[in-house]
Amino acid sequence: MSRTVYVNGNFVPEEEATVSVFDRGFLFADAVYEVTSVVEGRLLDFEAHITRLKRSLSEMDMPMPMSAEELLASHRELVEKNDLEEGWVYIQVTRGEADRDFIYPQNLKQTVVMFTQANKVAYARKGIRVQSSTDIRWARRDIKTVQLVAASLGKTAAKRQGLDDTWLIKDGTVTEGSSSNTYIVTADGKIVTRHLSNSILSGITRAAVLRLANEQKLTIEERPFTIAEAQCASEAFMTSATSFVTPVLEIDGVELNNGNAGPVSSRLNEIYIEEGKKSAI
Ligand code: PLP
Repeated sequence: MSRTVYVNGNFVPEEEATVSVFDRGFLFADAVYEVTSVVEGRLLDFEAHITRLKRSLSEMDMPMPMSAEELLASHRELVEKNDLEEGWVYIQVTRGEADRDFIYPQNLKQTVVMFTQANKVAYARKGIRVQSSTDIRWARRDIKTVQLVAASLGKTAAKRQGLDDTWLIKDGTVTEGSSSNTYIVTADGKIVTRHLSNSILSGITRAAVLRLANEQKLTIEERPFTIAEAQCASEAFMTSATSFVTPVLEIDGVELNNGNAGPVSSRLNEIYIEEGKKSAI
């Protein structure tokens, strides 16, 4: 069945949705995006996603195309029009349409596109197997831009090896997964995850999971770690809005926890979903 999508203020069937070939999002990847999970027909961590959208836009010298209230109303309308129970809403904001030029004009009319995707995978996830690869992305990974081809190449290469994803390595340590934040659990039960900087995206799920881990009195160390350290860890996992807390069962051919989901990641996933359902709007 065709989805209803949102383009520049209109809700239209996906077959009728169009964007100009001169759109800078298409020509320059001059655009940012957000993905908000939908559980039981409601939006998870919506405010945090919109706050990050605003920051990404600001770092790219772009304004918010509409208010947070209008964004919430359109997200909700899209969920309703598509009868979405489980899945996510994607929003992309581009600088807009202009003659192709590296120098961008000021005050272009921004393009705003939103669509939904049904997805029940997150609940069912038993765990994934990953291989490492060099992080070849640009230096501002803290901005959620649509320049995702490096991550896409890395993940596809992993798929071709029969694996699920790649963990990206910069200067000897893990930055993130292709579209997730990464964690290990040490033998003495500490959760280690890379500290926030321009090197990684400040994950909305990361923030929620670290808050919940804190409440569970788990010790958190925010620092870089190597693949060798991860391979010796008790557990490893990743987080993202579309996959929640996903256990990592194998890293570069080395199994963790005998190839089973560990107790820390399993528990954090349960709590995250439980809490998410309570606070979703
Ligand atoms: N890191 C990268 C590179 C991502 O693309 C994503 C999500 O798409 C994340 C981390 C996780 O962020 P969030 O939890 O906000 O989905």
